[in-house]
Amino acid sequence: GKGIAVFTSGGDSQGMNAAVRAVVRMAIYLGCKVYFIREGYQGMVDGGSNIEEAVWSSVSSIIHLGGTIIGSARCMDFKERAGRLKAAKNLIGRGITNLVVIGGDGSLTGANLFRQEWSSLLDELLQNGEITADQRNKYKLLNIAGLVGSIDNDFCGTDMTIGTDSALHRIIEACDAIISTAYSHQRTFIMEVMGRHCGYLSVVSALTSEADFVFCPESPPPEDWEKRLCKKLEQERTAGQRLNIIIVAEGAIDRHGQPITAEQVRKVIVDNLQQDTRITVLGHVQRGGSPSAFDRVLGCRMGAEAVMALMEADENTEPCVISLDGNQAIRLPLMDCVERTQAVAKAMADKKWEDAVELRGKS
Ligand code: ADP
Repeated sequence: GKGIAVFTSGGDSQGMNAAVRAVVRMAIYLGCKVYFIREGYQGMVDGGSNIEEAVWSSVSSIIHLGGTIIGSARCMDFKERAGRLKAAKNLIGRGITNLVVIGGDGSLTGANLFRQEWSSLLDELLQNGEITADQRNKYKLLNIAGLVGSIDNDFCGTDMTIGTDSALHRIIEACDAIISTAYSHQRTFIMEVMGRHCGYLSVVSALTSEADFVFCPESPPPEDWEKRLCKKLEQERTAGQRLNIIIVAEGAIDRHGQPITAEQVRKVIVDNLQQDTRITVLGHVQRGGSPSAFDRVLGCRMGAEAVMALMEADENTEPCVISLDGNQAIRLPLMDCVERTQAVAKAMADKKWEDAVELRGKS
C-alpha cells in the first residue's frame, strides 16, 4: 500500500484530532501504511521518533479532545531549502509520498512549495548519495491534500474551517455568562474576540449574543462612530435594557486603518456616558475546549476525503484542499485557494474592504 503521513501545523484548532483520526483509519482501511508526523514541519525536518507509524488504536479516544494530539509548531527550518531537503530525505526513508497537511494558509503554502521542489530535492539527495537511483525513481511523485484548521474561518474556498464552530461555542458561552452578571449590575461589557483579518467570529457572536455594537476588520465604522456608539447605547438603556454588550474583534480598525481597541471603546463610553464599563478579553480560551459536534463531523469528513483524494492522485494531479461547499466535501486546487486568501489579506492592507469581502466570496 501507499505511504501516507498526516501532520498538523500552525495554530491549533478544535476538530483537528477528528481529522487526524479519520485520516489514520481511512488509510488503514484502504490498506495503506500511515504515519504521524509530530510537531508539524519541525518533526518532518528532524525525523527520528517524530515520524511514527500509526495503528487503528493510536487514534482511539481523541475525537472529543481539543487541540492536536500530534502537536503543532511554527518551523523556521522548513522555510529554507536546506530544511526541506532534510524533510524529503526523512520521508523517502519511510516510503512516504502522500501528505495530509492540516493547517492554515501558511502551512498549505509550504506544502505546495515542497511539492513543486520535490523533483529537484530528490535530484540533490541522489547526487549527495543520500538516496539510491531506485528510490529516486520509486518515490518521484509527492501528492498533497490540505485540510484547513483555523478558528477564524479565514480561508477562501471553504464555507467553514475546522475549529470555527467550536470557537463560536466558547465565545457565546462566555457572552452568556457575562450577560447574566452585567444584567444584575446594569453594566456595559466589551468582549474582545479573535479575528485579525477576518471578522467572522465577531459578527456571528454579535448576532447570537444580541450585542449592541460590533467592530470588525472588514467593515470599519463611519468616522463619527463614537457618537453613533454612544447614541445607540443610550437608546437601549432608555428603552429599558439593563446592560450593553459590545464585541470588538482583535483586528478591528477605523476607516484610516488604525486599530480600534477595546480600551479605546471603553474610554469613549466612560467619558461620554459614565457607564460602568468592563472589558473581557477571551484570548486563547477560544481555541480550547472540546470540539463541537459540527467540528467533529467536519474533521471526519474532510480527513476521509483527503485520503480518497490521495488514493486517486496520479502525476497530473495538483495538490488539493478539501473544502466544505454547502453540505458537500469537495476538492479544490490548493494554490488557487491560497492565492485568493492572500489577495484578501492584501486588499485589507490596502484598505479596500469591499473588495476583500467580495474576494472572500462564500467563505
Ligand atoms: P498557518 O498555517 O496557521 O497559517 P504559519 O503561517 O505560521 O501558520 O505557517 C506554519 C508553518 O508553515 C511555518 O512555521 C512554516 O514552517 C511553514 N510555512 C509557512 N509559509 C511557508 C512558506 N512560504 N514556505 C515554506 N514553509 C512555510
